[in-house]
Amino acid sequence: MSSSIIDFVATEARFGAHNYEPIRVVLSRGEGVWVWDTEGNRYLDCLSAYSAVSQGHCHPKILAAMIEQAHRLTLTSRAFHNDQLALFYEEIAALTGSHKVLPMNSGAEAVESAIKSVRKWGYEVKGVPDGQAEVIVCANNFHGRTLGIVGFSTAPETRTHFGPFAPGFRIIPFGDAAALQDAITPNTVAFLVEPIQGEAGVIIPPAGYFTEVRQLCTANNVMLVLDEIQTGLGRTGKLLAEQHEGIEADVTLLGKALSGGFYPVSAVLSNNDVLGTLRPGQHGSTFGGNPLACAVARAALRVLVEEGMIENAARQGARFLEGLKGIRANTIREVRGRGLMLAVELHPEAGGARRYCEALRGKGILAKDTHEHTIRIAPPLVITSDQVDWALERLATTLTHDFS
Ligand SMILES: *Cc1c(COP(=O)(O)O)cnc(C)c1O
Repeated sequence: MSSSIIDFVATEARFGAHNYEPIRVVLSRGEGVWVWDTEGNRYLDCLSAYSAVSQGHCHPKILAAMIEQAHRLTLTSRAFHNDQLALFYEEIAALTGSHKVLPMNSGAEAVESAIKSVRKWGYEVKGVPDGQAEVIVCANNFHGRTLGIVGFSTAPETRTHFGPFAPGFRIIPFGDAAALQDAITPNTVAFLVEPIQGEAGVIIPPAGYFTEVRQLCTANNVMLVLDEIQTGLGRTGKLLAEQHEGIEADVTLLGKALSGGFYPVSAVLSNNDVLGTLRPGQHGSTFGGNPLACAVARAALRVLVEEGMIENAARQGARFLEGLKGIRANTIREVRGRGLMLAVELHPEAGGARRYCEALRGKGILAKDTHEHTIRIAPPLVITSDQVDWALERLATTLTHDFS
């Protein structure tokens, strides 16, 4: 059996649904910020599985916690208690200041669970007539891939021919507080929004936006649901991106880095009111809150704090952003970022971000194009200054390269 790159790629293409178009590299090992392909070539991971491996690949302490727990107990279902769930609740609540926690698996499940919960809150606490609840969302959002979620996406490729979709959503522009004010009705139960729109290309809203959003939600008894699945857990240089705005969400969604990339773990965090409406039998998940997931998540949260990864994200993110801004290349239209959630938007004439990502791969950097003209850069939060500088050198030569 040969293990050449062609075998893996061709076999995936032959048997797999073609819902992805990966960069041509076959990875077989990872450690910290680095990954290696099957030929032994090393790459700096500047995607971090869309922020799921923020703690770095195969973090030894998360790995140890996972192995230890896997030897003891993996899954009980929530039909019984287990000795990890309470500890996970206690630790995540203490860290984030939340009152109630609902453990799920994927990010999309956390989003769906939040929508169910705020609707229920709307009917049972706010007094919205049954079946009339409205949730406001933003254009260019990304909240996952389930039917419920893609129904309120504005990206044609995520929606086309997947309908019919569930009603009850209103779409407004991102970063526009006046639009939120206009969209709120007596039946509005929640505003679901990303603090920074990641998949849309790392779009940072205007300063003061979330202060106004918070005020509008409070004034109208509308739950502010922040999808921090990508921005949360240190990615932007704070534990939660909401802290940059000095606000607190009513409902916070976490996923991705909640397990350091070992295992799908997500959570809905809220005040007592929203998750307090859920009664036995009304919501659930076979794997949600399982002991293995809890042990992994506890370790993932612990190393994030104990090893100073959040502070490092702020420090290295600032260095990376300064460095990117210093690159003199006429391909670059704009550089954006907060913490280690960074993006380089190219001029449309540059011919698309994909070719630059391919070129970066050739120089030992894995990054991903998004929305055609944007290169997203989000390395693990354990990156060092030397590694940032190493990446910047290669980005500079790649972005100044003339492909025409
Ligand atoms: C990745 C992501 C999701 C979906 O998470 P999955 O685990 O892929 O279901 C939802 N919201 C945001 C902001 C994300 O980045």
